[in-house]
Amino acid sequence: MTRLSFVLTLIVLMVGCEQTEQSQWYRGNLHTHTFWSDGDDFPEQVTKWYVDNGYDFLAISDHNTIADSERWLTIPKWNARYPIFEKYLTESPEGWVEWEGYDDSVRVRLKTYEEYSGRFERPGQFVMMRAEEVSDRYGNKPIHVNATNLMEYIEPQGGESVVEVMQNNVNAILSQGERLQRRVMPHINHPNYIWAIRADELAQVDGERFFEVYNGHPAVFNYGDSLRYGTEKLWDVVNTIRLRDGRPLMFGLGTDDSHHYHEEAPNRANVGRGWVMVQSRDLEAETILEAMDNGAFYASSGVSLSEVTFDGYTYRIGVEAEEGVTYAIEFLGTNADHDPAPVAITDPESGELITYRYSDDVGRLLQRTTGTQASFQVTEDYLFVRARVTSDRVMINLVVEGEVETAWAQPVIAGQAVMSGQ
Ligand SMILES: [Zn+2]
Ligand SMILES: [Zn+2]
Repeated sequence: MTRLSFVLTLIVLMVGCEQTEQSQWYRGNLHTHTFWSDGDDFPEQVTKWYVDNGYDFLAISDHNTIADSERWLTIPKWNARYPIFEKYLTESPEGWVEWEGYDDSVRVRLKTYEEYSGRFERPGQFVMMRAEEVSDRYGNKPIHVNATNLMEYIEPQGGESVVEVMQNNVNAILSQGERLQRRVMPHINHPNYIWAIRADELAQVDGERFFEVYNGHPAVFNYGDSLRYGTEKLWDVVNTIRLRDGRPLMFGLGTDDSHHYHEEAPNRANVGRGWVMVQSRDLEAETILEAMDNGAFYASSGVSLSEVTFDGYTYRIGVEAEEGVTYAIEFLGTNADHDPAPVAITDPESGELITYRYSDDVGRLLQRTTGTQASFQVTEDYLFVRARVTSDRVMINLVVEGEVETAWAQPVIAGQAVMSGQ
């Protein structure tokens, strides 16, 4: 080996090491609203909240817009929005706000995505992704699909069934990514909002890898009702059906879906209730989304994890424990030889299908440990296994009484190690 090639080899080795060591956890939210749709604050004020509260990345996903046009708001001085405007004016840098004053109102221009993201993005510290909540419907059922890291506006695509509406929108999102050679990530929002999407429907969507297992909006029924499953059991049903049908696993996201920034209450869609923690080698949009595609992330409503690893055999969970808080680490899954045995639940009067119930073997509790460390051997006896950590601490700003801080790690399959984007 010549001296030069030795030096080059050494540099390559060093670079390789550095990349591995740099893999770390990044906190982000992919679903939030501003004055560009039905959120109640300016995008800069919303973004500032995430910057100030320790988030590393953010996608603002307003309904059916990518905030790229000229739009002015007229705010009468008697309107509840007026003090929000005054606060925005006071807290913005000198000369930033573009506005006109009249006797009884103001006109203010909403900053475009290019403008507001440019004010907050810092390489390696805070990254924004352009996003849209593609807000479609089938009949009276709202079908909302988030598109993260897109470049061009996507119009709701419509369709002849719940599955078709989801599929058409997911296809439009993925095909934009292919056309523009970038990672554009679709995720299905709040399936239980107005009971729009059943598990058997969600399971059928091709190309979709993500849905919201936790959404902080008060109208989304994360915990189901007396007839219908909460989002966790729904998730287990979805993955049981998908693996049977040869589709890949679906992963679960935490988002806050915030709309209301000025009053904290259980019936308000407040900021900061749910988020994701992604294990990635750097804080670039494409790398973060690639790590998520690999399943190297967890959803949280308050619990932080120090370890989430799966080498293909052993699923290990470590909790970043807080003083005075007790944690339960649970592994759940479906046996490979289960019988899903769906039973149709119909409305006794109209005879209309409400939902399907499945055997308790779907998403069964396999192991429960109290403490901050636990592991589970994932064998081929299981179709998939996932992990959940619940604390005994009630959420500070909860939606449902007794709701405790939780972390949801992703489902895994025996023999398929999760790469953390290293
Ligand atoms: Zn929505
Ligand atoms: Zn939303």
